[in-house]
Amino acid sequence: MALVDISGLTIGFGAEETLPPVVDGVDLAIGKGEIVALVGESGSGKSMTALSIVGLLPERGKVRSGRILFEGEDLLKCGDAQLRSVRGARIGMIFQEPMTSLNPVLTIGEQLVEALIVHEKLSQAESRKRAIAMLERTGIDDAARRLRQYPHEFSGGMRQRVMIAMMMALKPALLIADEPTTALDVTIQAQILDLLRDMVRDLDTSLLLITHDMGVVAEMADRVVVMRGGKVVEEGDCTAIFAAPQADYTRRLLAAVP
Ligand code: ADP
Ligand code: MG
Repeated sequence: MALVDISGLTIGFGAEETLPPVVDGVDLAIGKGEIVALVGESGSGKSMTALSIVGLLPERGKVRSGRILFEGEDLLKCGDAQLRSVRGARIGMIFQEPMTSLNPVLTIGEQLVEALIVHEKLSQAESRKRAIAMLERTGIDDAARRLRQYPHEFSGGMRQRVMIAMMMALKPALLIADEPTTALDVTIQAQILDLLRDMVRDLDTSLLLITHDMGVVAEMADRVVVMRGGKVVEEGDCTAIFAAPQADYTRRLLAAVP
């Protein structure tokens, strides 16, 4: 059984009769420990697909039909409490701008230590030790001092490292990363992606990686799903798709890789 099994997912904004869906009958499965890349041009419905999994569609955005099975349970049919617990403990999400997920009025330490106390049931002192070790693992120097700082005191790349440390604390079964390096300097991008890959491999976490960079897909993903205009136009193992893309659109995407 796949960890995530989405079928016929259709999402729209506003009146169903008049406004066409922005995600239109998408099927998408993610196996345990698998890295699946979701690619496609801007506006193709990647983020809405991802946000529907974590129940964070923007206002007026509605799932019109389909199902999202996670560990066999339909997330679209769960009660609120059950949903919150699945989405809180089993699914993590990293956005393009980490400030979306970090609390600006708490120090990095408060946020990391709290996550460890709640999820790992560690004592305050143990959590602090672990938080320092995690920050060090993500390449943050002087971690003990950094714990006392607020998110705005970190650079974009450092904040994304903190988010990855946070995910190491939460150990989700599924991590969704929506263009996690798009906002970062090119030199930092590869470091963050390497870190992300090491983390999901170590924890056996499944990763849904949204990107428009086919170079990243080639480096990281086991499987790739190509979306265009709300629909999946191609899907398969990376090696197969890179060797012989079937859809015209995928061919054009690949042609654009330097
Ligand atoms: P992608 O992540 O592939 O760039 P999105 O999933 O964010 O694309 O968006 C898909 C489409 O959904 C967009 O082209 C846009 O038309 C529509 N959309 C996104 N957010 C909103 C919103 N808040 N209100 C209305 N339409 C939206
Ligand atoms: Mg997007």
